[in-house]
Amino acid sequence: MNENLAASDRALPIVVQKFGGSSVADVSRIQQVADRVVHTVRQGHRVVVVVSAMGKTTDQLMALAHEVTEAPDRRELDMLLTAGERIAMALLAIAIRARGLPATSLTGSQCGILTNDASGGARIVEVRPLRVQDALDQGHVVIVAGFQGVSYRREITTLGRGGSDTTAVALAAALRAQACEIYSDVDGVYSADPRIVPKAVRLKNMSHDEMLALARSGAKVLGADAVAYARMHGIALYARAADDRPGETVVRYDMPQDRPWITGVAHRPAVDWLQFTIRSAQHAAVDAVLQHHNLAPILAVEHNGTATWLLGRDVADAVDPAYDRALQAILALLDPGDTEHCTGTLVSIVGPGVGREPKILGAFRQVVADVLGQPAAFVFAHGLSLSVLVTADQASSLLSALHAHFVEETPWFAARS
Ligand code: ADP
Ligand code: ASP
Ligand code: MG
Repeated sequence: MNENLAASDRALPIVVQKFGGSSVADVSRIQQVADRVVHTVRQGHRVVVVVSAMGKTTDQLMALAHEVTEAPDRRELDMLLTAGERIAMALLAIAIRARGLPATSLTGSQCGILTNDASGGARIVEVRPLRVQDALDQGHVVIVAGFQGVSYRREITTLGRGGSDTTAVALAAALRAQACEIYSDVDGVYSADPRIVPKAVRLKNMSHDEMLALARSGAKVLGADAVAYARMHGIALYARAADDRPGETVVRYDMPQDRPWITGVAHRPAVDWLQFTIRSAQHAAVDAVLQHHNLAPILAVEHNGTATWLLGRDVADAVDPAYDRALQAILALLDPGDTEHCTGTLVSIVGPGVGREPKILGAFRQVVADVLGQPAAFVFAHGLSLSVLVTADQASSLLSALHAHFVEETPWFAARS
């Protein structure tokens, strides 16, 4: 049978496969990805591939811009950074064509990924994937540059660091894909970053809420924005390794209720934080500022009508000016005595039992006090997570101790009903 005819069959399910920077870091890895894509096509799928920039390209481009000037123009920075994904998409299309399959690479703008105009951290507002559909109808594999879109003013935008995951989910939703597969250098989501906690175990499946809490707590294996988007649109995510290792984690809706109390531990590496206390009357105004600047997540602890919040500079990696403007706007609303600038690593436990089982808070405080030699000044509670801010050198021993207590010693990790 003619391969092109088979590939253009509209009855074939669409699969979106996303490959991150380490999976396309050099030519041999691009060849491996091409082999995998061809294999998926031959199994009877229409395939849309989303790629990140090769290896550390985005960091290098960013560093280059900062070599030119301390505060590069945000629009031009987006122009520069989107070039990284463009290189990867074209090389992968060339590799797939060299294998005899028709392939077309498209930028985010060509794919109809429409965003607001927040350069450096734009939000997707709509996806009109007409060209993707056309190319699929012609039997092509479609290769999409991740992490980018176009604003209604026709400016090229980027979606924030790690944004290629969001591109994949948004396309999967718009194309009603059968699956959204996120390939990286790890074969799924673990109970901790396996590079830091060697005893971490891979989780077969988890809910979107669990994954969102893990991602917001720093487990970058799946991007938080992507998971939030997937939750909103009912998309299951398959986290797998880009090499041929078997195994995966499925982030899915229909999770049984007998989840473990604790899903895992995570950390957000040392960054600058603003810790600030607000009274109920200030709540709405501060919230409005944060929303306006698109700055989340914030972790809060409520106490007698006041709340202590934490805002980390890492949420604004590519958009320092936005963070600084938001900071100024928040500081203008608060008394100087209610704010504190600090640095540190946020260490968290995450799980459906957090907030439901009071013993977890007590056990968390105890492990933290044992490792730090004193009780934590603040425990930040946010949805499914509990977190403390510690120095960078305390982080890995605290992660290991929390993992030992909440995961390896199974009572918290075993299934609950
Ligand atoms: P990509 O560049 O492909 O998007 P990332 O570097 O963003 O990949 O994500 C993969 C990395 O996430 C892994 O190398 C791993 O070190 C890290 N990671 C952090 N927390 C976890 C976790 N809980 N489970 C698996 N990997 C994790
Ligand atoms: N290349 C971008 C980054 O490094 C986007 C991504 O990898 O998802 O943040
Ligand atoms: Mg990533």
